[in-house]
Amino acid sequence: MNIILLGPPGAGKGTQARTLVDKRDMIQLSTGDMLREARTSGTEMGQKVAEVMDSGGLVTDEIVIGLIREKLEGDKQGGFIFDGFPRTLPQADALADLLAEKGETLDAVIEMQVDDAALVSRIAGRATCGSCGEVYNDVTKPIPADGVCPVCGGKEFKRRADDNEESLKVRLMEYYKKTSPLIGYYYAKGQLASVNGLAEIDEVEGAIARVLDKT
Ligand code: AMP
Repeated sequence: MNIILLGPPGAGKGTQARTLVDKRDMIQLSTGDMLREARTSGTEMGQKVAEVMDSGGLVTDEIVIGLIREKLEGDKQGGFIFDGFPRTLPQADALADLLAEKGETLDAVIEMQVDDAALVSRIAGRATCGSCGEVYNDVTKPIPADGVCPVCGGKEFKRRADDNEESLKVRLMEYYKKTSPLIGYYYAKGQLASVNGLAEIDEVEGAIARVLDKT
């Protein structure tokens, strides 16, 4: 089963993708994570990617489609979770073509609905474990007081360079201008399911599970 998690920055796509990886043996394909890796490569491309990401803008379709194409060559286990991809209509068309080439299907597109006010506080308080990537939030899921990640025992936590209010404004605008049209696109294709991303994490998990079990 291959699915897309669709929603603005801070909607909880990464958190839910991690659960699906654990529970359904799926593979998370986060273009954001791939680009964060690329930016540390020291290449000219990495430098350009870093500048765009820090500003909150979108990296070119060509680059992200290339990254996804490479990953689709590998093992697919319980299927792919596209997290943060596609973000534009050309990316959505490219994904359809790539999956068709592989004889694969897109089985569900899950829109995680949240309001903008919630996004600002979620993103401003976000941190991840430097070892296992577990996501924390100062308000909804604080880093434990002993400073130790209960998942892996890690003691270092990272905050993203683009998780600040200024960059968030640009990221939200990019989302509404370029990514939100995908909601209509997938609705028209009969593939869209929407869940309330503002519910408790395990409730969102349940809502997603119900969509996938019906698919
Ligand atoms: P994310 O981790 O998904 O919030 O992505 C972080 C940043 O990476 C975004 O603000 C963009 O600059 C870039 N990015 C991630 N995925 C894409 C994509 N599919 N298309 C273009 N840029 C992307």
